[in-house]
Amino acid sequence: MKVVQKDVLIVGSGLAGLYTSLHLDQDLSVGVVSKDRFDKSNSQLAQGGIASCISTEDSFDDHMEDTLVAGNFVNNVDAVSMLVEKAPGEIHRLIELGVEFDTDEEGMVLTTLEGGHSYRRVLHANGDATGKAIMESVLDQTVRRRNIEIFEKTMAVKIEKDSSSGDFDVIVLNDKEYICIRAKAVVIATGGVGALYKNTTNQMFSTGDGIALAKDAGCKLVDMCFVQFHPTAFYGEEINQRFLITEAVRGEGGILRNEKNEAFMERYDRRKDLAPRDVVARSIFTEMGKDGTEHVWLDITHHDKHYLESRFPTVYGFLKDQGIYMEKDMIPVAPVAHYFVGGIEADLYGRTSVDGIYACGEVSSTGVHGANRLASNSLLECVVFGKRCAIHINRTVNDRRTHINSVRKIRIAGAEYDREVCDDKMMNDCHFEDYMKSIQDIMTAHVGIVRTDEGLDEAYLRIESIYNWIRHHDRVCTMYHQVMNMCVVAMEIIMDAKNKDSIGCHYKEKSHWRRLCSERAEHV
Ligand SMILES: Cc1cc2nc3c(=O)[nH]c(=O)nc-3n(C[C@H](O)[C@H](O)[C@H](O)COP(=O)(O)OP(=O)(O)OC[C@H]3O[C@@H](n4cnc5c(N)ncnc54)[C@H](O)[C@@H]3O)c2cc1C
Repeated sequence: MKVVQKDVLIVGSGLAGLYTSLHLDQDLSVGVVSKDRFDKSNSQLAQGGIASCISTEDSFDDHMEDTLVAGNFVNNVDAVSMLVEKAPGEIHRLIELGVEFDTDEEGMVLTTLEGGHSYRRVLHANGDATGKAIMESVLDQTVRRRNIEIFEKTMAVKIEKDSSSGDFDVIVLNDKEYICIRAKAVVIATGGVGALYKNTTNQMFSTGDGIALAKDAGCKLVDMCFVQFHPTAFYGEEINQRFLITEAVRGEGGILRNEKNEAFMERYDRRKDLAPRDVVARSIFTEMGKDGTEHVWLDITHHDKHYLESRFPTVYGFLKDQGIYMEKDMIPVAPVAHYFVGGIEADLYGRTSVDGIYACGEVSSTGVHGANRLASNSLLECVVFGKRCAIHINRTVNDRRTHINSVRKIRIAGAEYDREVCDDKMMNDCHFEDYMKSIQDIMTAHVGIVRTDEGLDEAYLRIESIYNWIRHHDRVCTMYHQVMNMCVVAMEIIMDAKNKDSIGCHYKEKSHWRRLCSERAEHV
């Protein structure tokens, strides 16, 4: 097997991975592996913006309080204070890297409001194409760096620590073969888990690989039950990846209406349409259940065409292609899986419980989001904690011992890696796509916005049986590894959900029998 040697290996080319790579010392050799195309990530899709306290009316305390309220006060306070206080500096750094945030005619940066924010502190670029604008600059800077080598369409499938040298062997798979990339430090920045569900705003590569890799390498996972559902994905497409209607539409006055045209959010929360996402998603779910519908409506018709087209060019263009005109038509929306709050436990330098493995961005869990993420805090998390990973690696990586030369035997799912890449027929024989779909159906039915203990038990048993089948049908293909990872991550989410009471975006309803028993008990 080919062996490539690097000082640092970064798994993932989203904002977290690339921002980390840009802040590593330039005399370190850095590898970045990306499962899909190098320029394809969820970071690219971010619409609403990036939160930072930049106006004199706003304060760090207010940003902190909003983050804690959204997170149900189970956040790591040190991580929150780090996030909000470092925000303006990192916004500055993004501007240095070439990002042009939207400004008014006098050159003052424009900000918008999103759910859970008490001030307009969300900076945006190109209207509602903030992620694209940020990533264009970050990608451009990355390809200029001589010390960074990019491995596209290359999936990391195993991380093994050599106990004698302390180095890591990261086994990656491209369309031809397994390769071993040996590094002194590894940064996991693989993003979220949206593809575990039938409908998501995420790209379909979001199968939770980094979490499964980390677990296998001995890293601790935390808060796995917290999956955030975005209240307003466009309803209408029969595809897994749904188009997001940014929360900034509600920030600019958009109102959610049910089948009877009622603005129902005022019945659920005093913050109405701008309540935190878990509250809005659950309220929509309840309204859909009551009315027997598959979506509700988002109404922003009080704004005119000119304003909507320039403020939300991405959303406006998408809806127009669907025959929907925001200035006169209501938009059909429904909640879908969006953001993973839990993940690999990481400290304020992104250090995991395994020395030398770091995690940052959506895959990590520093506790910054508590039980539910405040809108537009995640791009911010990528840059604040991505930079801190780099700072720690720069300080320590050269103290690590040097590499050994021999390639150790590594076994993947019981099989040696020196094997033929799977062809289409071999893949069809194993029905990986069918199993992937089954996992998505099970997770959507039982581990979604509203959960019950009975549903979680059933989901666990069904996913465990898929896992047991798959692990005995190992093939050299990314699909095999993805389905295995989905099983591992799904089981971790379910176990954590079983063990936690409802809070934030984890909501358990009593089953029919439990409800009956507690109602009876009240009358005894
Ligand atoms: C539609 C949408 C809109 C959003 N809007 C906003 C917003 O307005 N503001 C905000 O703050 N947040 C927003 N978010 C959330 C935010 O974009 C993400 O949380 C953040 O970008 C995650 O960045 P990341 O670098 O951690 O992961 P990602 O950007 O998801 O990148 C993950 C990378 O890991 C790679 N990868 C995965 N598995 C492997 C593997 N096994 N081997 C190799 N590579 C692998 C992928 O190919 C990809 O390159 C939005 C998310 C979506 C989906």
